[in-house]
Amino acid sequence: MEFAIGIDLGGSHTAAGAVTPDGAIIQQAERDLVSLEPAAVVDEIEQVVQQVLAATGEKDCTGIGVGSPGNIDEKTGTVNFSPNFQWVDVPLKAMLEKRIKHPLHILNDARCATLGEYLYGSGKGVAEFALITIGTGIGGGFISGNRLILGEAMGAGEVGHHVIRPDTGFFCTCGKRGCFEAQASGTALLRHALATAPSFPRSTLLTRKPQDKWGSKMIRKAAAKGDDHALAAWRNWLDDLALGVSNIISFTNPAVIALGGGVGQADPAMLSGPLTLKVDALTTMIPKGITRIVTAELGNDAGVIGAAALARLGGTRQLTKPLNGVATAPAVKAKS
Ligand SMILES: [Zn+2]
Repeated sequence: MEFAIGIDLGGSHTAAGAVTPDGAIIQQAERDLVSLEPAAVVDEIEQVVQQVLAATGEKDCTGIGVGSPGNIDEKTGTVNFSPNFQWVDVPLKAMLEKRIKHPLHILNDARCATLGEYLYGSGKGVAEFALITIGTGIGGGFISGNRLILGEAMGAGEVGHHVIRPDTGFFCTCGKRGCFEAQASGTALLRHALATAPSFPRSTLLTRKPQDKWGSKMIRKAAAKGDDHALAAWRNWLDDLALGVSNIISFTNPAVIALGGGVGQADPAMLSGPLTLKVDALTTMIPKGITRIVTAELGNDAGVIGAAALARLGGTRQLTKPLNGVATAPAVKAKS
């Protein structure tokens, strides 16, 4: 059966999946990234691709799509800047093409996830759609008029770095202060817990035992159980998330905003429910309640499925055309 391979390049591991035209993953592989050095990352990508191809056979593979963090030059496939990988001008596509012979396409990871959710998940049939991925950082992507919005330099959807707390906010990896990502990502939830700690001198929330995983999940779990300190952090975090989401609504007026990434999967009773009320209170120039805030449907697979769709469409040039109907259309047999 015909398939394309989608690669999702994350901060700690890289995942690859062989994806059929109807969005089903028929084979997958995953590897931890031991180093974020470009040469080491390229090695790992080559390995996951080989693993998938070994299991599926090469002849039905129509192409490979890579979802990479950062701002990416559309023509050359160079990653201009990725604060999370600390990459500047990394010629990722050229490096990969020396190792992989299939047609190769590269797009920002959050835009790949947006494409995946739009074609096969929470955005199916939604002409005005936005995805916000909330994990270590915040990524995003917009669909408008059934087109994936790329912007003049592939930067449309970089919602994580619009500033919401310029004076009092946390510092961001991009160099600014009070970015949406610094205030409302998973990592930010931990920051809010640290910031509220002086008000809870007896709290054991941040007391770390050797077996504990130190991260946003422990705050989220404690908040779900009613821990006062965790709830204070969660509420402050939710206020910042609502501020950013209400801005995004005023930028593009979507019908649906899907919350993806690890934190986006939180119980709707804790997340999308209260968030909707806060966002409505901050929505002024657009009728309240127009935008539905939902949980993304493809989970961690959105990036892989979207990257494979990019490959099947034959690259970013196809994304400027309306995409309704392409999920079921045949693959484009274009060169990379
Ligand atoms: Zn930033």
